[in-house]
Amino acid sequence: MDEYQYQIDLLKALNQKVSGECEKYVALIDASGDAFLYYSYGEDICFATGNWEQFFDIQIKSFHDVSKLFSYVKEEDAEKLREVLYIDKDGDSPSSATCEFCKKDAEQWIQCDSHVMKDNAGKPEKKLLYFRDISKFRKQNNDLAYLAYYDSLTGLYNRNRFLQEIEQWIDKASREKAIFGVAFINLNDFRKINSGSGVLVGDELLRQFGQVLLKFCVDKTMICAHMNGDAFCIAIYDPYGERTIDHVYHKLVERLNNPFILADSQVSVTISVGVAEYPEAAQTASELIERAEIVMLREKREGQNGIRYFDAPVIYDYIQNAVIEHKLNDAVFEKEFLLFYQPQYDTEERFRGVEALIRWQDEDGRMVNPGDFIPIAEKSSLIVSIGKWVLEKAISTLAGWKQKFGVSLVMAVNISSVHFSQDDFVPHLMELIRKYEVEPEEIELEIAESVLADDFERVVRKLELLQHYGVQTAVDNFGVGYLSFSRLGKLPVHTVKIDKSLIGGMLKEEAGGIVVESMIAMLGRLGYETMAEGVEHQNQLDRLKKIGCEYVQGYLLGRPAPEDAMEILLDKQIWE
Ligand code: C2E
Ligand code: MG
Repeated sequence: MDEYQYQIDLLKALNQKVSGECEKYVALIDASGDAFLYYSYGEDICFATGNWEQFFDIQIKSFHDVSKLFSYVKEEDAEKLREVLYIDKDGDSPSSATCEFCKKDAEQWIQCDSHVMKDNAGKPEKKLLYFRDISKFRKQNNDLAYLAYYDSLTGLYNRNRFLQEIEQWIDKASREKAIFGVAFINLNDFRKINSGSGVLVGDELLRQFGQVLLKFCVDKTMICAHMNGDAFCIAIYDPYGERTIDHVYHKLVERLNNPFILADSQVSVTISVGVAEYPEAAQTASELIERAEIVMLREKREGQNGIRYFDAPVIYDYIQNAVIEHKLNDAVFEKEFLLFYQPQYDTEERFRGVEALIRWQDEDGRMVNPGDFIPIAEKSSLIVSIGKWVLEKAISTLAGWKQKFGVSLVMAVNISSVHFSQDDFVPHLMELIRKYEVEPEEIELEIAESVLADDFERVVRKLELLQHYGVQTAVDNFGVGYLSFSRLGKLPVHTVKIDKSLIGGMLKEEAGGIVVESMIAMLGRLGYETMAEGVEHQNQLDRLKKIGCEYVQGYLLGRPAPEDAMEILLDKQIWE
């Protein structure tokens, strides 16, 4: 074979290989179902490939023809597509962009990506536009979003969406100083209907009831939701306007006087409604809903089929019933009450100890803060049972931590006045200290100023006794009550905790800082250690350090956390 023939064969072989590769790529592009538009700037050549015809039935030969694509695109999407097609209109524009647009006369959604390839000098050489049908994907996404926020049975908002809406209402209402109400509505005897007439009839009733509620929601100031089973919610912004919750309730009852027609039967429905109003009843969306539910349950239990508003006596009874009904045995405490712990540090951020803070998780898993039940429990001897449990739990936890981590720390426990005034308070405490083999100095009792309002001399004697045994004591929330410096000076306590409202006030105005500074100086001279509560910002900590405050506690350094989370922190302390 001569040289010439050899070159020809070689070229043929190469040609075959290249066209084989090309075929492979074309097949791949076709199989993808997508369409591509290639543009070469130098030659102003444009060619479309892939499934171009399935997207657009026009020919594009030059880039000028690209403008024809707009005749296919919904008006509101045209601008987005223009940005992507003409991505290179400015010198320093990005080299790729993407958008989604909908075709005019079809519910077809298309994603368009553009990529500009530049030469070494940064001049555009080629542009590749890539079109992909995303209709199916969009539908799936819409379906998912629907499932996440709507109840599939009734088509109303679900609990998640309702919570989100109420959170936004809270923001708005706090800005506008407005109020609004949340009504929790329960269909009485729904279970009987469900089991008597069947689940399908029950579902139909819920659907029709949902539609009745929806008819009330004529504008954005009213929303309704299907929370679960036979529970619905309705919320009305500005209930002092025309449509108060009471007004809507009566209209609803009027409508319910006509039975629902379900399959071939007629069903009459009555409802129990509980109402919680922002900001009076609660400050967060979930608490508002919970409290509306609490009063609804009470209304239901008392069988009045009416409407009831959340107020202090209601919650008082609720707690009394819930707790006393259980006879307050250990099992109930262990099951429903728990302690959180918040770390305390010195101003050099060295760990000092923790404050035990009670939480109540009721049967339905709702977390109730102490501010909501301690004041109520304090009105009865309930607080003594709660206080005894807290003391034992805190001391046993301390003993466990000492053993596990080999650290010595202060366990601060809040003591309410009724509990403190019990004759057996000190003996019971000392018994626990012995039982769990902890040191008295490791316990700090936090006593509110209100304790000192009782019988001052008696309280002083008890504090002296505690001091004698070596137990530490602290005055809690100092600065907002009526305890004068002259009385404070006579108190045998170790530490004074400055209330978080004063610490918060330090940042608001200079006077706030001066008040705290003078307080700390005066307390120091009286021989007390000082602790600042509610330290949330670094500049508060810096200032407190500068003005000689010894200890700090607050969200900046650590939030109250459950026992296991606190153990992680203790574990870290050992190694630091
Ligand atoms: P307290 O003794 O003044 O406890 C501090 C409260 O402030 C805690 O609220 C804590 O979570 C919160 N806090 C801590 N750091 C910050 C902060 O940086 N910023 C803000 N804004 N707050 C902060 P919590 O746990 O809701 O307790 C409220 C009150 O309930 C306590 O006030 C205490 O008086 C009482 N309490 C808690 N547990 C018990 C208990 O076991 N027995 C008794 N009798 N009362 C308790
Ligand atoms: Mg406290």
